[in-house]
Amino acid sequence: MKRPGAHVSASGGVENAPINAHKIGAKSFALFTKNQRQWFSAALTKNSIREFKINLEKYGYSPDHILPHDSYLINLGHPDDEGLAKSRKAFEDEMQRCEQLGLPWLNFHPGSHLGKIDPEKCLLRIAESINFTLAKTYGVTAVMENTAGQGTNLGYAFEQLAFIIEHVEDKSRVGVCLDTCHLFAAGYDIRTWDDYNRTFEHFDKVLGVKYLKGLHLNDSRKDLGSHVDRHECIGKGMIGLNAFRWIMNDPRFDEIPLILETPDETVWADEISLLCSLVQST
Ligand SMILES: [Zn+2]
Ligand SMILES: [Zn+2]
Repeated sequence: MKRPGAHVSASGGVENAPINAHKIGAKSFALFTKNQRQWFSAALTKNSIREFKINLEKYGYSPDHILPHDSYLINLGHPDDEGLAKSRKAFEDEMQRCEQLGLPWLNFHPGSHLGKIDPEKCLLRIAESINFTLAKTYGVTAVMENTAGQGTNLGYAFEQLAFIIEHVEDKSRVGVCLDTCHLFAAGYDIRTWDDYNRTFEHFDKVLGVKYLKGLHLNDSRKDLGSHVDRHECIGKGMIGLNAFRWIMNDPRFDEIPLILETPDETVWADEISLLCSLVQST
């Protein structure tokens, strides 16, 4: 089945995220396990961890339907040694939080070269950072998100993500999350049936569907290939509803988190219903 959900608030504690997800009818969800605008936060309390697990049970969420997202400050391809070390330490902390919560995935943006090193060197740094963190943690898979390629962000081309994976030692613990807005802004068209098929066939050829651990479902405020990351509500942007209809009927996306990061959280429940209504009974 398809599991549309949203990136819900964990304010007041991670244990509130499953409650917030349940309220909007989400069948999967994303959350930050710490304040995403800070480098480090207080450790998760035993009570918070216990309540989180109780609430997952209570509302019927299995850990592999949850896709935690790391802090926006982390840059695993940082050109400076100091920035890189700080990013790796923070990422390791995020991985450990997932471990403590019993969650198998951690979604992150690959990294940025900041105009200081060449892209290939940055991609190699990202792979090294993943190797470094996987060696120090247990049971959590690092799930890279494709980017819009805004500024100096890498990971907008499938080939870049494949290059990173190529240099990751433990390929069983690396995966990809595709954001539809980023995909479109990066120049991958999905507006017509032909383009939709071409894009996902290309993904399968370059990366392999086996690496796909989740989707971020966002329409785009900016045009194809704009490299500008501006999310729009489903069906209200430049992508339009058809692509989301095809996604909701594509068996490649069964049982993985399909996470809304659309700008108006007051309509998430409606957007989840809309997405479910697109599923055609066969
Ligand atoms: Zn995203
Ligand atoms: Zn985005």
